[in-house]
Amino acid sequence: MPQQIQYDLKSLTLTELEALIEQLGEKKFRAGQVYGWLHQKLVQDLEEMGNVPKKLREQLKEAVGFYSIRELDRLVSEIDGTSKFIFALHDGSVIESVLMKYKHGNSVCISSQVGCRMGCRFCASTLDGLSRNLLPSEMLDQIYYIQRATGERVSNIVIMGTGEPFDNFDHVMRFLSLITDEKGLNLSQRNITISTCGLVPRIRQFADRQMQCNLAISLHAPNDEMRRELMPIANSYTIDEIIEACEYFFEKTGRRITFEYSLVAGVNDKPEHAKLLIKRLRHLNCHVNLIPVNPIKERDYKQSTADSIKEFKNLLEKNRINVTIRREMGRDIQAACGQLRRKYTNGNQTGECL
Ligand code: SAH
Repeated sequence: MPQQIQYDLKSLTLTELEALIEQLGEKKFRAGQVYGWLHQKLVQDLEEMGNVPKKLREQLKEAVGFYSIRELDRLVSEIDGTSKFIFALHDGSVIESVLMKYKHGNSVCISSQVGCRMGCRFCASTLDGLSRNLLPSEMLDQIYYIQRATGERVSNIVIMGTGEPFDNFDHVMRFLSLITDEKGLNLSQRNITISTCGLVPRIRQFADRQMQCNLAISLHAPNDEMRRELMPIANSYTIDEIIEACEYFFEKTGRRITFEYSLVAGVNDKPEHAKLLIKRLRHLNCHVNLIPVNPIKERDYKQSTADSIKEFKNLLEKNRINVTIRREMGRDIQAACGQLRRKYTNGNQTGECL
């Protein structure tokens, strides 16, 4: 295997692919062909690359590896057409992705890791810890597969599935440059949202890249004490540090930050919590997305009542904070938050124990 290349075929940039193909003694123009098959025609099998010599296909596979994801199951919501995909990776790991259809276009929610080590108390994806990071190609493939299998053009991406994207920073950055490449699917940075539980140094590092992606911060509490109860990461970074990093992000990119706030009955959903939150966010150019918590069976967190959600929202609005309540998609197919994947993995992170 060529020394300097550490990624599999679908994770390579065009420049890296050109270098590899030249090392293999082939003409550089072949790289453009291969790249087009991978990132525009979205082939899941090297055999499909009609105009690429068989020998070269085999050499490439041998040199760096070529992986595709495999659909294990698909559930389609009868309520809103949301589709949930369960995929197996080449090593047997199981991940999930969700296709949501909106008037403004199709959005895919992708996973960035197999499992997660952030330990948020209300989240099903973290119950078995982190198994491994996804490769850039495995993030791309969730979108490529869905677009090809459904015939629906994907225009928006949210990195809000299983995993903490900033805990897999380099692979996520490479994924972003490949998915926005004009020689690939050419998605607009503005149509991509990264959601993080708040890894402060990474927020700053991301800001320095000055991309036009959207940043969402999972805040879920108006003070550090309460946040520590819900999210272990709050022991490492304070809300003040997160807000400073968000201000820095805004300075660098001009992009308005979204704060996600999952409402848990009796825990963080009272009017006094809304008032504390207002104090913290008032001076920021931001948007708050209220998420009625999806109860998971391993914990006894309960969803706030419709009235307390409304009251919380009204208080924020009165104080001129932009706020929306997240529309729940695919309720009938357990589309939310890692709930379905666990059924397939039974706590093992691979599908084999089914
Ligand atoms: N690790 C990233 C992205 C994955 S989770 C992050 O923390 O932002 C995407 C969003 O769903 C986060 O805001 C997360 O806190 C929230 N979430 C996870 N489990 C949930 C649940 N059971 N109910 C409501 N929101 C949940």
